[in-house]
Amino acid sequence: MALCISPPTSIHTAYSPTTYSAIPILSTACANFKTNNAASHIYSTFRTLFTSHSMDRTFGLILLHRHFDLADDEMLVEYNGTSVPWKKAGIFEAKLQEQAWIVGKDGNVTPYEFVYAPREVVQVDWEDRKVVGFVKAFADCLERLGLEGVLGLCAYPGDDFQGRVEVTKGRANISLHPKDAMNEAGTYSADAAWFFAPPIIMFKCICKTDDAGNHTQHCDVT
Ligand SMILES: [Zn+2]
Repeated sequence: MALCISPPTSIHTAYSPTTYSAIPILSTACANFKTNNAASHIYSTFRTLFTSHSMDRTFGLILLHRHFDLADDEMLVEYNGTSVPWKKAGIFEAKLQEQAWIVGKDGNVTPYEFVYAPREVVQVDWEDRKVVGFVKAFADCLERLGLEGVLGLCAYPGDDFQGRVEVTKGRANISLHPKDAMNEAGTYSADAAWFFAPPIIMFKCICKTDDAGNHTQHCDVT
């Protein structure tokens, strides 16, 4: 008797600039976050989800947003704390590690931000059953709470993470240590990533922009 076994199908989808440009700008992302009352679920529903699947040291929760537009042949790559557009298919592409993902209704993940990791590229194993189970549960949770397209996943930054403040200058996104971030008047600021592992649960990523470029709208996030 022939035994039919379906080949494993990866939940991972390759990066596409179209996916990136569909991500809202920061002010729109914040408005969606507030409208859907997402803040009330961060340290309750999502914390429980991440920790119960033992994924709190693999992923963080991220507010899906873009700081500026990318061309069709670009991708956003961080190196030493600064993210700028890199041309796709460049000579360094093999050393790019995925950093943030959109999670679709069907539980598929699509990366949209990368880091240049010249010495060791560590990618998430999207065929690991624990990872797949977590991502499916995360997708279900987003759907149930009406937060699809509002929240996504980001890579765990390590136990030594002390928070960061991202500041956009032109088409560069600069990650500052919180101690080095100035409280500039008129700057628009929002919590943009949260982590649930005990060593760093008190630290967040905060994103700031000024009125330049796409960030012409303001919303208050309290
Ligand atoms: Zn940001």
